[in-house]
Amino acid sequence: MTRALDWRDRRHWSAKRRPCRYCGRLTNLRDEQGRPAMKVCAEQAEADAERTR
Ligand SMILES: [Zn+2]
Repeated sequence: MTRALDWRDRRHWSAKRRPCRYCGRLTNLRDEQGRPAMKVCAEQAEADAERTR
């Protein structure tokens, strides 16, 4: 079961665009640790983590 992040939360959004930590494309989104990450990339990474756990 994938833990659902609430990407609508303001803390997942920054006015500054930064390269996604997974794919390097610019994004305004941040993950739970405040690192630049696109929603789809973070969800994919989380799905991978679940699978290898
Ligand atoms: Zn990405």
